[in-house]
Amino acid sequence: MVTVSSTPDLVVRMTVLYPDRLNLYADRGNVLVLAQRCRRRGIAFELTAVHIDGTFGGTRPDLVYLGGGQDRDQRACGADLQRHREALAAAAADGTTVLGVCGGFQLLGHEYVTPDGTIPGLGLLDAVTTRREGPRLVGNVVVDVHAAEVAPEPRRLVGFENHQGRTELGAGCRPLGTVLVGAGNNGDDHFEGAVAGTVIGTYLHGPLLAKNAWFADQLIERAVGAALPALVDRFADAVHVRAVEAALVTR
Ligand code: GLN
Repeated sequence: MVTVSSTPDLVVRMTVLYPDRLNLYADRGNVLVLAQRCRRRGIAFELTAVHIDGTFGGTRPDLVYLGGGQDRDQRACGADLQRHREALAAAAADGTTVLGVCGGFQLLGHEYVTPDGTIPGLGLLDAVTTRREGPRLVGNVVVDVHAAEVAPEPRRLVGFENHQGRTELGAGCRPLGTVLVGAGNNGDDHFEGAVAGTVIGTYLHGPLLAKNAWFADQLIERAVGAALPALVDRFADAVHVRAVEAALVTR
């Protein structure tokens, strides 16, 4: 990896799947953070949306994003997603980072089992989600990130979770990290999120990337294949620190 000081030729191509259906809790904010942090470095940012019955094709994106959603929207999107199964698996195998948040994370797994039927996922993560009786898992979350491919040095992610589904990971993927605060994947094993190669899932809304600018920068670095010059952004850094502090006092 090289460090870039001036970035006029770099471009990040991002595809958001079903932004009109999978958009709970500021998923649009995550896109804006990426666009803004690219712009401030002089990196071009190209955004494509794929809707139900739409086409996923053309130039391979650097980043694919699936946001959170209610079960009813996940059902519609999960069915439509099956048309893109092979193309998305091929893109991920070729280096596209695929990020799913909450409902999007659940759809990256094999399936989401609900009392109203099973919603098929993409199977990009070896994970199964089940909608179980019991309390909704709601509140602030702080995660110690273990996955070195996401955080080469020890880092925390902070955000907000709100889900009824409980996700169990299989042997084919690893957790993103361990919860210090919050329920995480299922409220039992203390794991949060999942990683398998270029595919990342997390329950953290919030918006995730506004509260964790370091993670936004990791995603941009993966996309451009180069280390980025640090941005001086005291506001973004303070947001992260304060959000972690707030979560720690409310646990
Ligand atoms: N509908 C899913 C659940 O309740 C995901 C919710 C979400 O994306 N916040 O588990």
